[in-house]
Amino acid sequence: MLESPLHIQVILPLALRGAFTYRVPEEIAPDVEVGKRVVVPFGKRRYYSVLVYKMGVDVPKGTRPKDISYVMDDIPVVTDLQFTFWEWISDYYISGLGPVMNTALPNALKLSSRTSVSLHPEFDSYEEFSDDERMIIAQLSTHEQMEVSQLEALASKRSIQRAISSLLKKGVVITSEEMKPQAKPRMIERIELSAEFRDEERLNETIESLSNAPKQFELLMRFLEITGGDIKAAVNRTLLLQRSSASPAILRSLLDKGVFSSLEILAHGEESTGDQEVVLNADQRDALVDLKAQFEEKICALLYGVTGSGKTMVYAELIKEMLAQGKQVLYLVPEIALTTQLVERMKKLVGEEVHVYHSRFTDRERLTTWMRLLDSGGEEIVIGARSALFLPFHNLGLIIVDEEHETSFKQHESAPHYHARDAAIWLANKVGAKVLIGSATPAVESMFSARRNKFGLAELKRRYADVQMPSIHIVDMTKSKRADVMDASFSGELVEGIKAALTQKQQVILFQNRRGYAPYLMCESCGWSAECVNCDVNLTFHKHFEKMLCHYCGYSYKLPKHCPQCQSAKMKVKGFGTEKIESQLENIFPEARIARMDLDTTRKKNAFQNLITAFEEGSIDILVGTQMVTKGLDFENVGLVGVLNADGLWNRPDFRAFERAFQLLTQVSGRAGRKGRRGRVMIQTYRVNHPVLEYVVNHSYEAMYQHQIAERQQFLYPPYARIIQFKLMHQDAKFNREAAQFFAGLLRERFERRVLGPEEPPIPRIRGRYIRQIYLKLEQGVSLGKTRQAIWECIDILEGHESYRKVKLQVDVDPV
Ligand code: ADP
Ligand code: ZN
Ligand code: ZN
Repeated sequence: MLESPLHIQVILPLALRGAFTYRVPEEIAPDVEVGKRVVVPFGKRRYYSVLVYKMGVDVPKGTRPKDISYVMDDIPVVTDLQFTFWEWISDYYISGLGPVMNTALPNALKLSSRTSVSLHPEFDSYEEFSDDERMIIAQLSTHEQMEVSQLEALASKRSIQRAISSLLKKGVVITSEEMKPQAKPRMIERIELSAEFRDEERLNETIESLSNAPKQFELLMRFLEITGGDIKAAVNRTLLLQRSSASPAILRSLLDKGVFSSLEILAHGEESTGDQEVVLNADQRDALVDLKAQFEEKICALLYGVTGSGKTMVYAELIKEMLAQGKQVLYLVPEIALTTQLVERMKKLVGEEVHVYHSRFTDRERLTTWMRLLDSGGEEIVIGARSALFLPFHNLGLIIVDEEHETSFKQHESAPHYHARDAAIWLANKVGAKVLIGSATPAVESMFSARRNKFGLAELKRRYADVQMPSIHIVDMTKSKRADVMDASFSGELVEGIKAALTQKQQVILFQNRRGYAPYLMCESCGWSAECVNCDVNLTFHKHFEKMLCHYCGYSYKLPKHCPQCQSAKMKVKGFGTEKIESQLENIFPEARIARMDLDTTRKKNAFQNLITAFEEGSIDILVGTQMVTKGLDFENVGLVGVLNADGLWNRPDFRAFERAFQLLTQVSGRAGRKGRRGRVMIQTYRVNHPVLEYVVNHSYEAMYQHQIAERQQFLYPPYARIIQFKLMHQDAKFNREAAQFFAGLLRERFERRVLGPEEPPIPRIRGRYIRQIYLKLEQGVSLGKTRQAIWECIDILEGHESYRKVKLQVDVDPV
């Protein structure tokens, strides 16, 4: 009997909405399975590896599907559960399946003709390879890096991607992304005194003998200074070189002499000891009992615990119980930066091997974790950024969303604009798992769900070991200025505060919302100011590079000596960023050891980890930083936290600005005095009477919550309404305006007065594209299914429109 040929639907890794139909040639039909990748031709002479999504589908009328070329995988790399999850994301966040797959799959599973590959630097051949594989290895040994399409041109296109994929799995070949400098922080090199130099006499002899080698002498003295006399201590190599201003050659000579020896340790924790017994205190025990009781009925519970109350300990206890039941645990953190400290803590507390999954890890490492989970059944803990939600779990028991109020759980950069906390709840519901969300400053929506009994709720009202909450002091900058006690950006009070902390051998964290040196460059003669050519924003002056830089598109140019408009030389920088704060501090406290933590200083491999370690070891006195210093870090000896300019935090035209300002100020304050003595916080502002400050000073989340919830109810904002945001973007301002009007019209036909806009956003142009935004505000009770359908109708009309289809449309459901 003649069977009709098999047709399948595949998902392409492109910004396309639907699935595409292909025909399966008979000879490879037995190998085709849902969840495997196959290579297909697409467009002109392009080949992609795509995912088999559905089998045995009908051929859409009037089309003649092309043949798939080759099957790449021996086993499916995506599970049914994952597909179902993707479908939900695509549906809820109004995004095509292509973008969802792109977000969900690790790069190494997304080979296309344009991917660049090269040989792994440590590759030495011993395995048996196929002809294709050998050809690729030979090519890559002579070319440093090649595009897949170049390799395809050298052999049969159909099989080359399969061979590359196999070499990727074997670790012989890596994708170009892995060659970027900011790869995963891996090994840290530490320097210690060699054992035979660890006695005083021997050490003194050495010091004397170095009197004719001043640089080596200085290096050794610095080492002793950092270790504070602990002769067994080891010091981070980078830090030692930084502190001593010694060259690597000088360090080498001391290593060669045997005075120092060096040891490499894994950046996140030496070994998994698991020996640290978790003993919860009474509050924590109560919270744990509460949570477990509530999980009997509810999928999600909120652990609302003040900063330093030990939420991590409660998580750890729950994690242990889950692992003991053979379940998998996913622990989501908002900031990649946080994982290193956390992984170390978790290894000690839980003792299991901890998988880490986020963008600082290389493609190959992420692929390894993916493949491991694919055929594992349980007892695993994965710590990761929001994308870890897309891993192939089989037996998920618990998802923890730590610092759940953080906006980095939302994908901002590209579609789908999903929120990891909300998606986690869907996923847990699907597989019968639980979600524990935790924060000292829960999102207003989360607390609302808890108060309405949708989520469970447990509280930790006190800090661990009864450490007091920090005392918070508001510094009036208007007065401070008048009295002329300002030293640069610092009030007299803050300077005194820092002095006092340093005298008591305590550390200081200073928070400034802006990186760079100064956010404005202005001509004093004609008022000209430096603006980006692509975006409607001022350029920030970065002293270190002597450059003006745009923080939105990266555009930069050299600091002009003369005004481009009037040729005057009276150019002045205004305002202050972290870089300027740092240099002012160096003048005020020449003795102090100062470091800066922001995007600019943490780009390099290991840089972030080095800063954290150095601060933990006490070899930094004052740490200046942006948002990065506010988040969840746990340091023992911070006596003072200073906020240089609070005003910038609430001056935003956004209904969440008030909540965000409260969260940020409370979180950064929470870094003070976490162990032992009560910490102090000083907040500088020109508006001492701003209501948010009162709530922060009194540690009153509750009052902030009531204030906000009343406002949201009155003006119909979440949680009392649902918001869907549309952004239209195009290079031509007028055209974009018209397209936005057109699209708003389509929406109005279907949603009437619920449509707001189009309006100009606070930054009307970014990366050369003008932006218009439209809001859809849906009161409670509106059917979401129907809403989405109507929105898709509007999108279809726009995308089918002769000219307006050229604008880029971005849909954001529940924007944050
Ligand atoms: P949070 O996440 O709530 O801000 P952490 O979990 O970081 O608080 O805990 C704050 C500090 O208190 C940490 O240094 C932690 O080691 C310590 N701590 C909290 N609970 C305990 C406990 N039960 N036993 C020992 N140390 C604890
Ligand atoms: Zn001028
Ligand atoms: Zn720009």
